[in-house]
Amino acid sequence: MIKTRPHSSRRLVAVSNRTSFGSPSAGGLAVALSDTLAETGGLWIGWSGKIFDMPRRRVHLTEEGGVSFALIDMSKSDYEGFYLGYANSVLWPVMHNRLDLAVFDSDYLAAYTAINQQFARAISDQTAPSDLIWVQDYHFFLIAKQLKDAGCHRQTGFFLHIPFPAPEVFRSIPDHRLLGEGLCAYDVVGLQSPHDCKNFTRYIQEELGAEQVGEERYRIGDHTFTLRLCPIGIDAESFSQSATSDAAENAARKLAKFLGDRHLIIGVDRMDYSKGLPQRFEGMATLFDKYPVLHGSISFTQIAPPSRSVVEEYAQLRQQLDELSGRINGDYGDLDWIPIRYLARGYERDELAGLYRLARVGLVTPLQDGMNLVAKEYIAAQDPDDPGVLVLSQFAGAAEQMKEALIINPHDRDAVADSVLTALNMPLEERKRRWRVLYDGICRQDITWWREHFLSAFDSAPAGT
Ligand code: ADP
Repeated sequence: MIKTRPHSSRRLVAVSNRTSFGSPSAGGLAVALSDTLAETGGLWIGWSGKIFDMPRRRVHLTEEGGVSFALIDMSKSDYEGFYLGYANSVLWPVMHNRLDLAVFDSDYLAAYTAINQQFARAISDQTAPSDLIWVQDYHFFLIAKQLKDAGCHRQTGFFLHIPFPAPEVFRSIPDHRLLGEGLCAYDVVGLQSPHDCKNFTRYIQEELGAEQVGEERYRIGDHTFTLRLCPIGIDAESFSQSATSDAAENAARKLAKFLGDRHLIIGVDRMDYSKGLPQRFEGMATLFDKYPVLHGSISFTQIAPPSRSVVEEYAQLRQQLDELSGRINGDYGDLDWIPIRYLARGYERDELAGLYRLARVGLVTPLQDGMNLVAKEYIAAQDPDDPGVLVLSQFAGAAEQMKEALIINPHDRDAVADSVLTALNMPLEERKRRWRVLYDGICRQDITWWREHFLSAFDSAPAGT
């Protein structure tokens, strides 16, 4: 039995596919984890990012910025089966409700199980029973169960960054019970939204016979775990400061030169089929179609760098967006007006903050999203005296917190078009009122709140059950 001490006095061990090693300035999550890891003399276990032709899963121990790292190499076949296969071609599409894109292949599951096992072994070798093990995301559903099966007693937590779909959808994964039981073997499970919690509890109750034994407590067999609603946040104050940095102002100045006196509508996403980009472009076409008065007076800029472009679906999406933006510009553009600008590249955080601040409308319309941090960044970057308006998909986890945004159905082109018009016409006083509520919310439930809210679940969870 593990003795429970407050989480703050225990060593934290983070486990995730990618770590911050080699890019210590990377995003909010990396910073939030690194801070606690550095404070508690912690360890971060993850993939080294290296792929070898021959089977080779060596663990390298190293250190950076006061944090220890255990980095695991992968073979080419591990990478193909575990990462491109099970993670990207089974879990990502199914959890985002895209069963049509899922490829069920038993070799993928074998690779997924083997890599989870490899990580479990590294945890067992590199940690002590008093450590807190915090596993991030869908790459590692199986680790807690594998640790138990190996007789390695650790307190383990798991946070799912992506949505948990309806049980009917989750059940279509041939190995769903293995995954569901894997999740329930953790001591703490964190999910992004009330909707995810509902889906998850319905699944474990209907399918695994779980019984609710406390407000956040569920029991399956002789194991009891805590389910914690824990929406991830951003470092709102620091992001807000970034929006007035030199780099932000330079980026905004460049874009403003092109804009002239037109209003900017901005979209910023990884290029992923879950982000609803074609639907968004169609929504903008509907806007231009329905409201010719707007021609020449607004400009939509979509920033979407290719991601996972090795996978076929991403190449198709890229082609679809190229065609759509070409068609819309051809149909509606003029000698002195390009309605849609589509930039297939990434920008630095400060530059993005400057672009968000310049935009009168932030268009965030994923078809399915665990949280969507762009929505929060857009709000953080606004000028309090002249804030823009957030148009947000009802299917982003963020919509359950950010109710003062204009919430829309991203499949409904008219709703996208009409909400952009509403945002453009919104009086300053209403923009300020909505923005203030949203900004206070993202400051209150920021990334530090998220980390502490998750980790404090260990304090109330009886250990070793
Ligand atoms: P996801 O995790 O699915 O990509 P989120 O919206 O939650 O979606 O997080 C995306 C993160 O990536 C945000 O911090 C955002 O600033 C960053 N990002 C998205 N698009 C770009 C881009 N074009 N250039 C740089 N960063 C980007």
